[in-house]
Amino acid sequence: MARYRGSLCRLCRAEGAKLFLKGDRCYGDKCAFERRGYVPGEHGQIKFKRKQSDYGTQLREKQKLKRTFGLLEKSFKGCFEKAERQKGVTGTNLLLRLERRLDNMVYRLGFANSRGEARQLVRHSHFLVNDSKVNIPSYLVKVGDKIRVKEKSRKIATILDAVETVARRGIPEWLEMDKVNFTGVVKALPAREELTMPIQEQLVVEFYSK
Ligand code: SF4
Repeated sequence: MARYRGSLCRLCRAEGAKLFLKGDRCYGDKCAFERRGYVPGEHGQIKFKRKQSDYGTQLREKQKLKRTFGLLEKSFKGCFEKAERQKGVTGTNLLLRLERRLDNMVYRLGFANSRGEARQLVRHSHFLVNDSKVNIPSYLVKVGDKIRVKEKSRKIATILDAVETVARRGIPEWLEMDKVNFTGVVKALPAREELTMPIQEQLVVEFYSK
């Protein structure tokens, strides 16, 4: 399936939740979700709380998580299947696998304003992981890994802008960022309760378990 190229704010409004897809704009009063609190479309202002079947609720939760991380169905399902094969709670495994993606870490550390932007920067080889070039957005980082912006990439406006504005959303406790040296370290992996995104991962598990 082709990647979605339409309005990102429309996705938030369709899901009835802020997915934080547009960087700094999501934290200001220009956020379309804050300004237009109804689903997109031509049929009047339909509020978010619609009655849904169990399947519909599970589908929406899956779409919400998939869109938050900007993945295509095939990659997302692949990620779910790997999470299912791991020991432990599948839903938590899935969230952790998504969190550990290099593009997500670049975003969380504040080297990009959104996960979409981070994915593009990773693909263009602007980062080193433990001093080796890694340009695969789905690369899974581990505790202790050091993520560094390449020396020659430190003047890129997108990265500089992200580093300057990250304070607005904050850097999670399990990461450490050194703004001067453009370096980040994964101090730990987050516990489930530290992942504050409004997702009921159990519904995603139920969706794929049918
Ligand atoms: Fe979603 Fe961000 Fe657009 Fe707000 S500004 S609707 S959070 S993508």
